[in-house]
Amino acid sequence: MLTAKERQGRRLRAVLDAILHDVSARRDYGALADYIAPLGRIDPRKFGIAVATRDGRVFAAGDADEPFSIQSISKVFALTLALGKVGDALWERVGQEPSGNRFNSIVQLEYESGVPRNPFINAGAIVVCDVLLAGHEPKEALGETLRFLRFLADDGGVFIDSGVAVAEKAGGFRNVALANFMMACGNLLHPPELALGVYFHQCAVAMSCRQLALAGRYLAFGGVHPSTGRSVVSPQRARRVNALMLTCGHYDGSGDFAFHVGVPGKSGVGGGILAVIPGVASVAVWSPGLNEYGNSKFGTAALQSLTTEMNWSVFG
Ligand code: GLU
Repeated sequence: MLTAKERQGRRLRAVLDAILHDVSARRDYGALADYIAPLGRIDPRKFGIAVATRDGRVFAAGDADEPFSIQSISKVFALTLALGKVGDALWERVGQEPSGNRFNSIVQLEYESGVPRNPFINAGAIVVCDVLLAGHEPKEALGETLRFLRFLADDGGVFIDSGVAVAEKAGGFRNVALANFMMACGNLLHPPELALGVYFHQCAVAMSCRQLALAGRYLAFGGVHPSTGRSVVSPQRARRVNALMLTCGHYDGSGDFAFHVGVPGKSGVGGGILAVIPGVASVAVWSPGLNEYGNSKFGTAALQSLTTEMNWSVFG
């Protein structure tokens, strides 16, 4: 007679194997984010998935141990750190509404006087980086983010891919425009190039699906880091970050993701997605090809299969 834990484990193993099998047969990968040169050179056939469950197990399949550029997924962790520093005062400088626009839209920022719609679009994340800079040199602010990620993932191997950071900076003209505009509106407290330096390097963090799934556990388990039992954020703050992930985590494809996948998630143009199943699991998936919204095409499909097969949803 199997225990409930064994049954869940077997079911999850079978679902992940089926997902890997399905993805391996597909060739319609979607488009690579080649506006950041190193991301345009990634093999589109790469696919990894990892599920970290409440009892401390990690179920993985495919290229789950290969580091990839987490890009905008880093915005979740930077937001967590910024809220820890300034608390709800952050919301005077960044909103909590879905943008309905592309992640690097300039026009909306001008209409809204330099206050970004949410912390997950680029402008909002640059403000968050500005908050992380308070009292710090950019290197120290980045060191703090990296230490946080290593702690969350129980893994000292998380690193910043400097080649990606250099490429981001070289092509980051829209981000430079966003930062300068917010400076003009008084919504940056440090020189734009410093906030941008933190932003570009944070986007260039490389993690594997396994590391990322482990790092996301505090969001799934009431703000607590399960391996140490330490509180990372209060349960209420974890809920709020999850709410923002659900409503704003997939750019202007957030409604589509909520409809089809049904759980909070944050994507990045490197093809990664972190998804949170509150009380149950933290999931990371990676497939570099992107759909029309700039979200991982097979990653989204894989998460849809996973949540459907496991009957996971925040909507009942
Ligand atoms: N570093 C990327 C940019 O600013 C992040 C994009 C993303 O993943 O949304 O263009």
